[in-house]
Amino acid sequence: MPDLNDEESYLVATVRQFIDREVKPSVLEMEHADTYPERWIEQMKQIGIYGLAVPEEYGGTPVSMPCYVRVTEELARGWMSLAGAMGGHTVVATLLATFGTEEQKRTYLPRMATGEMRATMALTEPGGGSDLQAMSTVARADGDDLVIDGAKTFITNARRSGLIALLCKTDPAATPRHRGISIVLVEHGPGLTVSRDLPKLGYKGVETCELSFDGYRTPASQVLGGEPGKGFAQMMKGLETGRIQVASRALGVAAAALEDSLAYAQQRESFGKPIWKHQAVGHHLANMATKLTAARQLTLFAAEKFDAGQRCDMEAGMAKLYASEVGMEIALDAVRIHGGYGYSTEYDIERYFRDAPLMIVGEGTNEIQRNVIASQLVQRGGLS
Ligand SMILES: Cc1cc2nc3c(=O)[nH]c(=O)nc-3n(C[C@H](O)[C@H](O)[C@H](O)COP(=O)(O)OP(=O)(O)OC[C@H]3O[C@@H](n4cnc5c(N)ncnc54)[C@H](O)[C@@H]3O)c2cc1C
Repeated sequence: MPDLNDEESYLVATVRQFIDREVKPSVLEMEHADTYPERWIEQMKQIGIYGLAVPEEYGGTPVSMPCYVRVTEELARGWMSLAGAMGGHTVVATLLATFGTEEQKRTYLPRMATGEMRATMALTEPGGGSDLQAMSTVARADGDDLVIDGAKTFITNARRSGLIALLCKTDPAATPRHRGISIVLVEHGPGLTVSRDLPKLGYKGVETCELSFDGYRTPASQVLGGEPGKGFAQMMKGLETGRIQVASRALGVAAAALEDSLAYAQQRESFGKPIWKHQAVGHHLANMATKLTAARQLTLFAAEKFDAGQRCDMEAGMAKLYASEVGMEIALDAVRIHGGYGYSTEYDIERYFRDAPLMIVGEGTNEIQRNVIASQLVQRGGLS
């Protein structure tokens, strides 16, 4: 891993070992029982995964974005749900570290670094997730407090997260609309109900929920950064991390699909030879490996831009778009290569095929990524 320093390479190797020794042998069982991976989350805390985006002075062990990509990929190679269980958390940690007041950082980051407190972000509403500025959840000022009413949906890790970074309107009449949007740091309490767990195609084990706010009261000082009206821009910056994370999850699922297919194609025989020697199968493997390598390069390119402190919404969007689309194709090719076993719930392949489409939709659909890429191409005058 030439782009990582020794500690980072060691961390990635540790996560890889954790996946191969602990997760892979029993992931099928956990998946089909839809069980929350309590023990594995504890092990992830011990490894330090929840502190990867927390600055050292608040107890974290921050790593470079390329290292974060590889850690996420390894987790998703074992079980995409594990990468999902730390994704939103690291975005919220990044938001706090970048935009939080000193008091907010001291209140949340040390507990987030250990994983004692986990965090998620709540953007999507029942009425829509793509058109965020049309949201209807409102935080109304009442003396020194905010009173929040509204609903969010598809919020992952919502029950087990002690902290929710809630995107909502603090000034619904503002023009342009984004000036009336804030991120409010919300903890569970009266007026906030986790109203329903949503059934899903894949992404099993971790909960994805509806949240209902009904007169939820919190101090106005819980607005991220202390100043309302900045939440939309803050969240767009946070989503650079989020989209690189989702791209990395797609890489992990694709890597697992390729790994299993490569092994199977050498064991399985038909017409007197291993199936990889049939050109059609060998070419599937070649396509899978080529697409995965290209997606990895694109994701690492976005990660490096991020670390250079440059605006990287276009690059993160390209990585998320490409990695998730080829992730889906690679998962489908793995089904083809495994024949009937690819469709059997006694094997991992069908799980890759159910998990892969989430990355096409989550953290902004791929149609929205294309919108971001196109508008950045025009704004920047093309690819530099
Ligand atoms: C398992 C799961 C976990 C999730 N976890 C979270 C979470 O933790 N937090 C959170 O906030 N959200 C979460 N989401 C929500 C996810 O981010 C949204 O589903 C996604 O952003 C799309 O929003 P939507 O479902 O409302 O679709 P819509 O916005 O209604 O879009 C429907 C279709 O229209 C297209 N479309 C909409 N507008 C445009 C446009 N301008 N141009 C082109 N096409 C457009 C979309 O691309 C899509 O194809 C999760 C979703 C899932 C499935």
